[in-house]
Amino acid sequence: MKLKQKISSSRLIIIAAVLLVAYLVSILAVTNLGQTRLKESQQRELNLKVQNYTSTLEYFFNVTNDELTNIAGDKLMLTYFANLASGMSMKYGLGASLFKLNRKLNNLIDNTEINQHSVYKRFALVGYNGAIIADTDKNVDPMFAMVKPQGIHEKGYIIRTLQYAGDTHIQLVKLVYYAGKPVAFLVADLNKQVIVAQLTAQEHEYSQSRMDLTSADGDIFIWDSLTNNKQSANDESALVNKIYFETPIENTPFKLRSWFEPVNEKDIFTSGWFIAGLSFLAVPVFFGLFYTFIINNANIILRTKFEESHKQRRMLSVQNQLLTEEVEKRKISEQKLAHQAAHDALTGLPNRTYGNGRLEEELAKAKATNSNVLVMFIDLDNFKQINDTLGHLAGDQILMQSTERLLGSVRNSDVLARLGGDEFLLVIPELKSVASAQFLAKRVLSLFEKPFVWDNQELFISGSIGMSIYPQDGDNAQQMLASADTAMYRSKQDGRNAFSFYNTAMSADLQRTLDLDGRLRQAIANNELELYYQPIIDLASNKIVGAEALMRWHDERFGFVSPDEFILLAEKNGLIHKLGEFAITQACTQAAKWQEIAPLHIAINFSSVQFRYCDQLFKQICDVLIESGLPANKLDVEVTENLLLNHNEDVVILLNKLQDMGIQLSIDDFGTGYSALSYLQKFPFDRLKIDRAFLQNMQTNDSDRALVNAIVSMAKALNLKVVAEGIEDQWHADYLIAMNCEYGQGYLYSKPVPAEEFELLLLQGTER
Ligand code: C2E
Ligand code: CA
Ligand code: CA
Repeated sequence: MKLKQKISSSRLIIIAAVLLVAYLVSILAVTNLGQTRLKESQQRELNLKVQNYTSTLEYFFNVTNDELTNIAGDKLMLTYFANLASGMSMKYGLGASLFKLNRKLNNLIDNTEINQHSVYKRFALVGYNGAIIADTDKNVDPMFAMVKPQGIHEKGYIIRTLQYAGDTHIQLVKLVYYAGKPVAFLVADLNKQVIVAQLTAQEHEYSQSRMDLTSADGDIFIWDSLTNNKQSANDESALVNKIYFETPIENTPFKLRSWFEPVNEKDIFTSGWFIAGLSFLAVPVFFGLFYTFIINNANIILRTKFEESHKQRRMLSVQNQLLTEEVEKRKISEQKLAHQAAHDALTGLPNRTYGNGRLEEELAKAKATNSNVLVMFIDLDNFKQINDTLGHLAGDQILMQSTERLLGSVRNSDVLARLGGDEFLLVIPELKSVASAQFLAKRVLSLFEKPFVWDNQELFISGSIGMSIYPQDGDNAQQMLASADTAMYRSKQDGRNAFSFYNTAMSADLQRTLDLDGRLRQAIANNELELYYQPIIDLASNKIVGAEALMRWHDERFGFVSPDEFILLAEKNGLIHKLGEFAITQACTQAAKWQEIAPLHIAINFSSVQFRYCDQLFKQICDVLIESGLPANKLDVEVTENLLLNHNEDVVILLNKLQDMGIQLSIDDFGTGYSALSYLQKFPFDRLKIDRAFLQNMQTNDSDRALVNAIVSMAKALNLKVVAEGIEDQWHADYLIAMNCEYGQGYLYSKPVPAEEFELLLLQGTER
């Protein structure tokens, strides 16, 4: 806006300059026009004046001529010439008449005046022969002899000029007739002053004019108020650029030449000088305007620059503000990043790196104060299963809830960190005793007794704890963590939901696990695994009605490896899927063959891990049944309780599909897990296998016996057949028979044996 105003001020200056130019041009135009008009009017006026002069002069000569005509025809004149003709002598009448004529002429000189100037200076009457008859001034020659009046006969008179005695004379010569014949010339010497007076009647000292009369006989100077050189009428240089007229005086030999000063030279206010002056005056005004314009422009540039710099400064300060904000944001985001780098995004707990650092700090403090530090490695059991079956959201929820519970039970001085996945680290400085460590571990385990809730489902999760104590189990963070990890692994092996302290033997265990891992892979590749079969007996008839397929592995280096050990390992390293496929294919093929001997059913153990890929598992089972030709109702799928715990819908669907095909479903190891009744109602099981641990102490332990009783009654109520595992002596068998338990399995009947041996048992049984 301001810029516009500045620009319009420079525009104003330009407009002013243009107006000034227009003003000057119009002044020049008007002045020029005025001058032209003035010149024209002056011309007209002077012309009129000159006309006036010439007509006055013509009139003067006419009047003079008339007067002379009168005199020439006057009685006195006629009388004289009559007398002369009659021969009269001078003494008598001729002399008298001449005297009278003379007197008349003298009277005329005296009495003929114009503006107090006598018109005539002298009269002379000259005979036709040239003799002087009369003369008013006898002393001087009438000059008649000098100039012959040529052409006088045409008009009867002549006007002439004569140079005489240093003066110019103007004469009017009139022919005098008597009896029709020219007899004499009447010569009138005119007073030049009268003519000058007539021609200068309107002239004055300041009229700036010059006049003369020219004739063939010479020029007569009249008037000069124009040039300094008064007498020299022909000084042309002085008369250049003057207004000039040349007018003939009618009936005379004269021309009137007149010069006048042009009006513009006279009147300074309309002259070229005035215009030049005005223009000259305009020059500084112009320069002034130009200068103002430039200054104004410079001002505008300066102001524009100023405003520009102001704007830039404003922009700079805005940018500065933005920069400051940006820096602030950066700082915050850096702090956030630093926090993120040190903390776990999900739980907000210190992460592995930061947790390690904190552990190192605590170890350093303990070293300085000579105190003990407890390092607790907490791992959630079956967490992977939850993640795989219910999705990561469920897993995240469990982790967050676990964190909350853990944080609620630790002291401020304790360090809780998430090492990754479902692993937590708890560092407890200034540990008093091993007993207090045990107490703390129990308390942590108890945190997981209550089920977690997700999507209106109750999820059961337990924890496994491994512990190491500084300084006995390591002297740096890395060693302490490794020791606690090893101890934790032991807890898992011990059946989870337990805690262990590190001891040196554990390191060896860890090494064995690592070695076994490699060996198992090799064993699978080399087809070194085998299935053994243990008979399942119908307790009432004591006959083999089925077989449970149990996997065996004889390693060259480690010898016999228990399936409890390598199945757990396979579940961890993913080999379980291959083992499972091997077991189904082998067992079903074998069982199909045995159908020729007896219609037994084959029980195959399925790990919960295999149920992570339900569709794949279903297809596998179907394919094997088709390939082997084993009827579906001869297959018995054994699953453990932990499959039912924290299951997803797919598991239910799969189990239902299997049952729809006629496949039998058994719940294995019943009583060792959570044994929730609701599961049994929800899933379509056919059989329930009582874990052998209950049978072991049943004989001596009343409560175990009561538990077995309860399980069997419950199974009956749920319309499930019961299989008792681990029948080692007859007492068990008898008791279970008495309990109406349908099936049994145990060393009393047979240990798990290779296929050939089982076939023999089967053949014996049918023989029996
Ligand atoms: P399980 O399913 O409970 O199998 C029964 C276990 O009890 C077998 O141990 C068997 O040898 C043992 N047993 C049977 N009768 C008696 C008895 O009278 N006294 C004693 N002390 N033990 C008896 P095994 O073969 O060592 O198998 C251990 C576990 O390994 C099985 O427990 C099963 O959970 C798992 N397992 C074995 N083979 C497979 C397999 O092919 N697939 C899967 N997923 N798990 C398998
Ligand atoms: Ca089993
Ligand atoms: Ca079992």
